[in-house]
Amino acid sequence: MRLFLSGFCLIAMFGAGNSSLTYDLRDLQTLKESKTQVVLLGTGTPNADPERSGPSVAVVVNDTPYIIDFGPGIVRRAAAAFQKGVKGLKVDKLKTAFVTHLHSDHTTGYADLIFTPWTLERKEPLQVFGPKGIKGMTEHLLKAYSQDIDIRVNGGEPSNHTGYKVIAHEIKAGVIYKDENVTVKAFPVKHGTWQQAFGYRFETPDKTIVISGDCVPSEGVVENCNGCDVLIHEVYSTTGFAKRPPEWQKYHSSFHTSSRELAEIASKAKPKLLVLYHQLFWGTSEEDLVKEIQQNYKGKVVSGRDLDIY
Ligand SMILES: [Zn+2]
Ligand SMILES: [Zn+2]
Repeated sequence: MRLFLSGFCLIAMFGAGNSSLTYDLRDLQTLKESKTQVVLLGTGTPNADPERSGPSVAVVVNDTPYIIDFGPGIVRRAAAAFQKGVKGLKVDKLKTAFVTHLHSDHTTGYADLIFTPWTLERKEPLQVFGPKGIKGMTEHLLKAYSQDIDIRVNGGEPSNHTGYKVIAHEIKAGVIYKDENVTVKAFPVKHGTWQQAFGYRFETPDKTIVISGDCVPSEGVVENCNGCDVLIHEVYSTTGFAKRPPEWQKYHSSFHTSSRELAEIASKAKPKLLVLYHQLFWGTSEEDLVKEIQQNYKGKVVSGRDLDIY
């Protein structure tokens, strides 16, 4: 029983009164209502696979969405998830986002995330958290779309005058966000020559979720997962890698994590569920990629696909 907490208590007596359970009504209510959904909005990479939209994950808690990365296609995938029944992914609810790093495959949906929900009546400014450079990217995008903003605000469209604004926060490692649904911790990961790249740990009332971002094997993932419910980790196929040209092998091995390396990381991190994400297959089937992991990892593992919900 995890319900022995402060507040108004109900003593439920069973049988002749020789056993009793103390419930906190408020906590029962919270547990009943707290439901975290982890939705893969896009599992792609720079490869323009029509089946895999650009990288983006939504952690949805009590119908409030928190977006991690905004690869191309993000808003339409959120709309698809909403149609699938994820109420929290109604487009005008997209207000809070976290970006792992500024690679284009993770950020070319940024303009979409700023402007489409606004056009669909989001009134609040978008809050964005990310590495150094996110402020500059935001300013440049707003400038690039200044004519659109002007026409929608002053050109006769019945638009609100606030929803296109963005509050961009350049973060450091540590707890960077907290509200009634989530505590978000950013931790540094190594992603080749990027000066800053982050993984994120989300604690919600009923789940702990860790997202690696793009990285080589990182101790931060192990420490922050440490038995977490869901670990969403990027990966490339070890078999596919062997067929890549030497210059690309050099690049991938210093920016990304192989299936062999991920098996090792996951064995230490011990997630209840490992989700393969941002997969680079290079001709290897999805099934074989999972097998590559299972050769050295005994935990539960799935290969993520767009619109999967955990
Ligand atoms: Zn990437
Ligand atoms: Zn990257």
